[in-house]
Amino acid sequence: MLHTMDIYADPAYAMAKEQFQTIADYLEIEDNMRQRLLHPKRAIAVTLPVHRDDGRVELFSAYRVQHHLAMGPTKGGVRFHPGVTLGEVAALSIWMSWKCALTGLPYGGAKGGVAVDPRMLSVAELERLSRRYMQEMIPFVGPRTDIIGPDMGTNEQVMAWFMDTWSVHQGYSVPEIVTGKPVSVGGTAGRREATGRGVVFLVERAVNLLKMEPQNCTAVIQGFGNVGAVAALGLALKSGMRIIGISDAFAAFHRADGIDVQAAEAHVKAHGSLKGFTEADAIAPEDLLTLKCDVLIPAAVEGVITEENADKLRCRILAEAANGPTTPAADRILEQRHSEVFIIPDILCNSGGVVVSYFEWLQGLQSFFWNETEVTDRLFRILEQAFAAVIRRAKDGGISHRTAAMAIGVERVMAAKKARGLFP
Ligand code: NAD
Repeated sequence: MLHTMDIYADPAYAMAKEQFQTIADYLEIEDNMRQRLLHPKRAIAVTLPVHRDDGRVELFSAYRVQHHLAMGPTKGGVRFHPGVTLGEVAALSIWMSWKCALTGLPYGGAKGGVAVDPRMLSVAELERLSRRYMQEMIPFVGPRTDIIGPDMGTNEQVMAWFMDTWSVHQGYSVPEIVTGKPVSVGGTAGRREATGRGVVFLVERAVNLLKMEPQNCTAVIQGFGNVGAVAALGLALKSGMRIIGISDAFAAFHRADGIDVQAAEAHVKAHGSLKGFTEADAIAPEDLLTLKCDVLIPAAVEGVITEENADKLRCRILAEAANGPTTPAADRILEQRHSEVFIIPDILCNSGGVVVSYFEWLQGLQSFFWNETEVTDRLFRILEQAFAAVIRRAKDGGISHRTAAMAIGVERVMAAKKARGLFP
């Protein structure tokens, strides 16, 4: 039993907990082990004082949660978003654990976040905030304890500042403390594209399994950032699909005969968002997810597929590129519709990012760098194995893809905890 107040109270944490309980019931895990598997090992909450350009000092709440240490160091991104809470960060760290275990990476899950809207900061302010975050984390993170990476609202530049701050503290360059860095400071080829590329690979596997023709498929993508835009470009240009819907936090668009995704990408580069894009019809954002399509890809925030819209989805494949896009209540509705909607669950669908982060860490540790073809080939081999394992487990057990994916992850973490025992 855990005798404490639940410091993680938050809708995302409640979701991670409810999902875990379903798996724990399915695996018949005894109560004590359930508590050990679910509750994060360590949580760090700090306040970051940052000089604004106008001379004021502003404070930002920031967190890092390390979920479990049974299989190696922890690994996870840092999110800069105004809605960040300790509970959300904890939920994301838990999902990272199941994801790393599912793909066979020697990591526990972690996540970090700062409650800030990075677009409201100048570049100099963003640099001061990023460096201060890493400075506060120095006692808790390291290449053998907790490796940091990007998430929503952070990018290669932020990772470079993190890496530089940690390295300055050590007195020499430590590229392996951070993944998602620019190639110029030890980043890996293919990291930026990895998550979106993985999504495209897995969507193609699902299309193939369902005996559909990619050239005849339509796709709708919510979120046009690192993951959504790369997935949209890959599905359009590589798989030959027609992208009929796209959106970001500011606008949503539909075009039945296909959106020119490269034009949309150019618009975002020029204007910072999809707002004002004229080559498709603007629609209400809430109507995007229920457009009739073959492939629906939520690639933005969590909790967008709910009990209100789950029975209205009109897609054949739901590829969860975002973390936690489907609430447990929506999941129960989708389980009833499993013959209509084929789900690629988040911990599988977006795992390409952490897999290539793992490659980046390995290359950093060895100071031996691979080319992009090697990175992508190895990524696809790991994704293929994980996809096959999930499909097989679901079929054999008569369970959903999500239950299968999580069961594989949870079982591996549990096996490691049992093998290591409890100290003292
Ligand atoms: P990003 O910041 O690059 O892009 C996020 C996109 O979503 C932006 O286009 C933003 O405008 C849009 N968005 C935000 N709120 C929205 C809303 N309410 N409705 C519609 N669009 C909205 O972030 P990203 O790196 O692309 O991450 C997207 C998702 O993928 C997140 O859930 C993240 O945790 C997950 N993910 C990312 C990676 C990675 O490697 N970047 C890896 C695994 C999972």
